[in-house]
Amino acid sequence: MEQRKGRRLVLFPLPFQGHINPMLQLANILHSKGFSITVIHTTFNSPDSSQYPHLTFCPIKGDLSESEASISDVVSLLVLLNVRCSDPFRDCLSGLLSEASEEEPVACLISDAVFYFTQGVANGLGLPRFVLRTGGACSFVVFAAFPFLKDKGYLPVQESKLEELVGEFPPLKVKDLPVVDTKKPEKFCQLVDRMVNETKASSGIIWNTFQELEESALAKLGEELTTRMYPIGPFHNYCPASSSSLLEQDRSSIAWLNKQEPRSVVYVSFGSIAAISEADFLEIAWGLANSKHPFLWVVRCGLVHGNKWLEKLPDRFLEDLNGRGHIVKWAPQLEVLAHPAIALFWTHSGWNSTLESICEGVPMMCTPCSGDQKVNARYVSDVWSVGVQVENGLERETIGRSIRRLMVEKEGDEIRNRILCLKEKASLCLSNSGSSFQCLDQLVSHILSVES
Ligand code: UDP
Repeated sequence: MEQRKGRRLVLFPLPFQGHINPMLQLANILHSKGFSITVIHTTFNSPDSSQYPHLTFCPIKGDLSESEASISDVVSLLVLLNVRCSDPFRDCLSGLLSEASEEEPVACLISDAVFYFTQGVANGLGLPRFVLRTGGACSFVVFAAFPFLKDKGYLPVQESKLEELVGEFPPLKVKDLPVVDTKKPEKFCQLVDRMVNETKASSGIIWNTFQELEESALAKLGEELTTRMYPIGPFHNYCPASSSSLLEQDRSSIAWLNKQEPRSVVYVSFGSIAAISEADFLEIAWGLANSKHPFLWVVRCGLVHGNKWLEKLPDRFLEDLNGRGHIVKWAPQLEVLAHPAIALFWTHSGWNSTLESICEGVPMMCTPCSGDQKVNARYVSDVWSVGVQVENGLERETIGRSIRRLMVEKEGDEIRNRILCLKEKASLCLSNSGSSFQCLDQLVSHILSVES
């Protein structure tokens, strides 16, 4: 732990699992650098403050009703959060500023990029704002190019062009563009534009990535933006993780993995938000069963449209597999990926999951569902070549083929060797002379130099 810096930082995470985890990891990193930390958070999806006794937590009321808080229309929910949080956030932040002691002034705000409204609030209060972008630089480059992609006719995405290459962004195809399936594509584009513009207007952008992983995307952004950038990830590799899980992690996953052979298990999880149809769910079930490999499958409540949990799983499905399959509602994912029994990760390609898999050297099988996941998956399969995509829809045969490519064929060994190289780089970047280590020192100096 470094000497206390006599400065307080105020952090504001977006209230979803894939955003809360990296923000609280960042809180731990900056606390270990000597800053005091206050986390402002919504009461909706509130983090468990008892896991972080060294941080101060300030709840604000976002006042979302249960129906408003539905993730079935994620675009409307994100816009609504920006509207509803605005007044309570401003009141809370200005209260913190006026209460701050002379010995420990508030140096800056660090806000999730998707909370774009916070730039205006910070300006109004004369407080510098840094942004944490929880996704990769590779997808942000594309988000930043939305106006250009619209001009060129790539957006809105047309069914007939899905397989075409986006010439300016190789190797992305039109189907990889980071859009969400919404009835209001215009609303989504506005959200992206605001996120990008208010990120550009910030004092600095903090990335949960590392230079060696996203060299060209970071360089491109460096040319386009005047904002200073700090790729200081992978965050979860800095310190032993405190849990910021919103759902209870089922420890039976580890007990079950302990009984499996080394490098034998397919781990399947589609993260905290993605939802799939009942038909896809059944194809996944049969694809896994037919593969003959052991599998650990996270089926979140709400994963399958219109279902509570496993009610559509065929009768005696798990029993007939004689212990070869284990299903949980939520797993301790970091521990699972680090377990020697894990051979591959079938993922929806959320940025955190992608980075966590890279850090453990686990090859990926990708089924991206929405938004930036499609860009991440293309990078996994075609840029870093550390995984494959389940192409042509979710069918038990294509699933079986993808599992075989990674578990049985020579291609799988090559992919494993490449991801082990990336794992090594992910670890080296945090060592004393490593890129993220140095960047973090620069970020600390920048924060200490800004005057509110
Ligand atoms: N996660 C977990 N248990 C699970 C599935 C996921 O703890 O069973 C964590 C995972 O480690 C990651 C986060 O939830 O940190 C998911 O973030 P990601 O960006 O991958 O996807 P999102 O949920 O945002 O779509």
